[in-house]
Amino acid sequence: MSEPERPSREAAEAAVKVLLRHIGEDPDRDGLKDTPARVVKAWTEMTSGVRTNDAAAILGRVFAVPHDQMIVVPTIRFTSLCEHHVLPFTGTAVVAYIPSDKVVGLSKIPRLVEHFARRLQVQERLTDEIADAMEEHLKARGVGVLIRAQHACMACRGVRQWDAEMVTNGLRGVILSDPMARAEFLALARAG
Ligand code: ZN
Repeated sequence: MSEPERPSREAAEAAVKVLLRHIGEDPDRDGLKDTPARVVKAWTEMTSGVRTNDAAAILGRVFAVPHDQMIVVPTIRFTSLCEHHVLPFTGTAVVAYIPSDKVVGLSKIPRLVEHFARRLQVQERLTDEIADAMEEHLKARGVGVLIRAQHACMACRGVRQWDAEMVTNGLRGVILSDPMARAEFLALARAG
C-alpha cells in the first residue's frame, strides 16, 4: 500500500494559524507566536503510533515458556486522542492473557497499548486492536482487555460530564467462552 503524500510541517503550522484566526485570535500576538509549531509537534507526538513500529514487531520477541494460567499485566496508564474532536482521552488498561506455548516480556504490553493509543482513536477500537494483536501475534488461548477512560470531549464541551468514565471490554478465546476464565479476568481487572 503506497503512503499518501503528507503535507509539510510548514503547511501544517499554517493550517493551525488559520484555526486560530477562525476563533477570533491574532496568531501573531506574543503568546501565540510559537503555538502553531507547538501544536503540530504535540499532534505529531500523540499520533506517533500511526507511523512507527507495528504490533508484530513489538510482540516479536517471545519466550517459550509452558504456562497455562492467566497472566495479568499491571494496570497500564495511557493517553489517546478521540478521532471525533481530536481531544485527549486518558485512562487505564488492564491486559491479561492465557498463553499457548509462548509468553512475551512484561514491558512489551505497555508498549503495545501505547502503539495503539498514540493515534486518532475511539475507545472501542483501541480495546479491540490490543486484544486482536495479543491473540494474533502471541497465539494466546485467551485474551482480556478492560479499558476505563475519561474523555475530554465529554468533560469540556457538549454534555460537560467531567467525571464520566467509559468502560470497554475486549475478550477473546477462552476468556470469552469459558465463564470461569471470564469471571477470573473480570475480578482481577476490577481489583486492578
Ligand atoms: Zn470526542
